[in-house]
Amino acid sequence: MYEPYITLLKEHHLKATPQRLQIIHYLHTHHTHPNADDIYTALRHTSPSLSRTTVYNALETLKKENIIHSITISAGETRYDARIDTHHHFLCTTCNTISDIELVCPNIKRVEGGGYCIEEVHGYFKGICPQCAQKQERKHEPKDAA
Ligand SMILES: [Zn+2]
Ligand SMILES: [Zn+2]
Repeated sequence: MYEPYITLLKEHHLKATPQRLQIIHYLHTHHTHPNADDIYTALRHTSPSLSRTTVYNALETLKKENIIHSITISAGETRYDARIDTHHHFLCTTCNTISDIELVCPNIKRVEGGGYCIEEVHGYFKGICPQCAQKQERKHEPKDAA
């Protein structure tokens, strides 16, 4: 199941270490934009010898090579994404969930027109996600009725 990831790492002249493969696989199968600790905790179940530093270093390398993207929407926390195409993110301030927002930034052409070469485009939105909004509504309902 790691075949495509081995090829991907080779294309970037990176050694296909088991840790790197596990991390890429995890990010491709969990679209929750996890942070380094989430990834470390999840992978440690199957690889008890895995160290936190190894996970951090591998993430750093993969990020540098543009194999994964990092998202710094929440203060003091870096979250990771296997999707490297241009898309934006919505952080729910209630449940801390990051969702993908499919939007084309209308300003890209204008920025490029100024002679800037764009490598990444990040749009960050913060607020309350539909799930949390629904829950809050439900919580208020009985009170309103009374
Ligand atoms: Zn939420
Ligand atoms: Zn994303």
